[in-house]
Amino acid sequence: MQRGIGASSAGRGGRVYTVLQQAIVDQALPPGTRLPEDSIGAQFGVSRTIVRAALQRLAADGLVEMKVKRTATVARPSLEEARAVFEVRRCLEREVARLVAEKWNDGFAARLAAHIAEEQQAADGGDSKATVRLAAEFHVKLAGMSGNPLLVRYVTEVVSRCSLILSVFGRPHQSECAIGEHRTILEALAAGDAARAAAAMDHHVALVERRGVGGETAAEPDIGEILARYLPLAAVADA
Ligand SMILES: [Zn+2]
Repeated sequence: MQRGIGASSAGRGGRVYTVLQQAIVDQALPPGTRLPEDSIGAQFGVSRTIVRAALQRLAADGLVEMKVKRTATVARPSLEEARAVFEVRRCLEREVARLVAEKWNDGFAARLAAHIAEEQQAADGGDSKATVRLAAEFHVKLAGMSGNPLLVRYVTEVVSRCSLILSVFGRPHQSECAIGEHRTILEALAAGDAARAAAAMDHHVALVERRGVGGETAAEPDIGEILARYLPLAAVADA
């Protein structure tokens, strides 16, 4: 059974939301994919109203774009949005690592070690879909260990958005989470070193961003400058 990374939501609308969210996070539904209310409703056996409510929730999460009188589509984040999401993600997850280090216990150690082993198995088996999902789940699982439900909610949202961002800017079907970096975070937590754990997490998220989105902000083409170069040519053509 597919596990959703988000909090489970009751009801049929909740099921539509969870399934679409998971498919977007898994990068199975790429950015720009149209999400027609009628065919989704038929598939789930629910009304268009229920589908629309689920799409609106996904839009609030930044995963779906809804424009008036247009079919909703899987969002295509801009580079600027991508940077902003990663900035927030780093803040949140540094704090997660610090809190989890303070609450550290043998149960956490066993759960995280088992999770990382599962990630390694998926990577060794070349199962890229599972690799992407498990990488995201590592972060949400850690947030859960902080004991703060709001942190879980916000980390789930930024991690989901990062999966979507990586499907726009990164290599297709890659999580960009290096398993060795997850191990380094686990080691710092197991050592009870909150500062080191926070630094390891910060470094990890920065590397995910660099691998997926690129080190330097790519300059947007300056349309004025480009057109200025063409104007003299147009003048010649007019003459
Ligand atoms: Zn990671």
